[in-house]
Amino acid sequence: MSGENSSSDRTPGVKEPERTCAACGKKSVKDDFLRFVYSPEGRLICDVRKKLQSRGVYVCPEKDCIKKALKKKAFSRFLKIEGAEPSLGELAENIGESLEGYLFGLMKMAFKSGKLKSGASAVFDAADKGNARLFMISGDAGRSVREKIEYLNRERGIDMVLIPDKLLIAEKMGKAVTAVMAVTDGGFAESLKKGWRMREEVKTW
Ligand SMILES: [Zn+2]
Repeated sequence: MSGENSSSDRTPGVKEPERTCAACGKKSVKDDFLRFVYSPEGRLICDVRKKLQSRGVYVCPEKDCIKKALKKKAFSRFLKIEGAEPSLGELAENIGESLEGYLFGLMKMAFKSGKLKSGASAVFDAADKGNARLFMISGDAGRSVREKIEYLNRERGIDMVLIPDKLLIAEKMGKAVTAVMAVTDGGFAESLKKGWRMREEVKTW
């Protein structure tokens, strides 16, 4: 697995190396997998950014594969660590928390570069101009705003994701960002959509 940390500096035209799911054997590029490493304290953790300088194991981001990998003790076996593996619930919690940290980091980046609009008027303005690629709204946002977002989602096909609650957004993003957001950049929108949907899904594992 040498060189596994170097492929993030992708050069156009150079084929990205393939990774293999430790559970089902599927081969694909690393973006299609979750990466796991053991922390120095011996805890199995999800390396969402896939950049930790540690031996990593890749698994499909699906409950079945994670479950199978745990059952096969694939994590400790592939990483040559002798130790207990977490339960599916414990690992799901870690995946969720890691994802959340990563997603708020992405949102901060998008906000700083003007690609994340916050507040109902800025959000609807972006939608009117045809710039909104993704709506993000907290589960406890006001009903009328939420209905309008849901309408735009249905009628104009602009994707939307739910983020747990206003308090969490304020805590992670600061007061400048409200419970209603729109992402105007396609790349950020795709990563945030995929990430937040997965964040919701792992809660059910
Ligand atoms: Zn798999």
